[in-house]
Amino acid sequence: MTRKEWKIQAVRALAGTDAPVLTAQLLLCHVLGLDRVALIAHSEEDVPAEAQTVLDAFLARRLSGEPLAYILGSREFYGRDFEVNAHTLIPRPETEHIIEEALAFFDRQGRTGEPVRFLDLGTGSGCIAVTLAAERPTWHGTALDISAGALDTARRNAAAHGAELEFLLADFTGPLPFGEASFDLIVSNPPYISEKEYAELDAGVRDFEPRSALVPGPEGMEHPRAVAEAARRLLRPGGLFLMEHGWLQGEACRALCAGPAWGHVHTVRDLAGKDRCLYAERV
Ligand code: GLN
Repeated sequence: MTRKEWKIQAVRALAGTDAPVLTAQLLLCHVLGLDRVALIAHSEEDVPAEAQTVLDAFLARRLSGEPLAYILGSREFYGRDFEVNAHTLIPRPETEHIIEEALAFFDRQGRTGEPVRFLDLGTGSGCIAVTLAAERPTWHGTALDISAGALDTARRNAAAHGAELEFLLADFTGPLPFGEASFDLIVSNPPYISEKEYAELDAGVRDFEPRSALVPGPEGMEHPRAVAEAARRLLRPGGLFLMEHGWLQGEACRALCAGPAWGHVHTVRDLAGKDRCLYAERV
């Protein structure tokens, strides 16, 4: 069977899933070790028998609902590939707003080249912390997670992108080993989905992504609340707090930063126009 023939039958089988053509192309590229340009330019070449066995097995996994990122073992975030696995959430494009806001804040202040100290609470694959460290090599970051499997993955992602970070296995709902006012920037994409919303999620998310990375408790606000509390204590005056949240949690999250400790509190919307990220400056 040629590459093109495998692709045509895969696209047919994938009808009804998202992006059948792209999925088939990415599977072929991954298994054959090609980029998409090479794949398209040499589509009449035969697929070796062993490669076809692997391709068919991967296609069957996708058809059973497994997200493509887990099958490929990686997902792109802010222009870099991140290893993902059963211990980590798959990075989402809407999380890139945290990166944009963080870089813009310190650029505006002319602090781009300074040794900004930052903390990522619940780092997962490390996509946020590794991206910040890779974009701003003078910054000093700490990436924290309660899952040893996630932290190992984040370490490998940091090494792959030459990002220097400290890693800490810890539970951010409990006491943390940092003094008050230790950081200039605190970022987090914590679990924020309520148990009710979880039951209504796509099967691809529910059956394959780690529940502990999605659901903090019955209400969904348990971890956002703990993260905001940690941020209030650990940020220096003039520091910035950015936290992703659910599209219906904008008001509840702004309320976490009410009071004299915070200024310029507002909600950043995602590209779909939905409330997505809490922005608050420590006064
Ligand atoms: N920080 C990681 C991400 O943005 C993990 C988030 C999580 O597990 N809740 O993908």
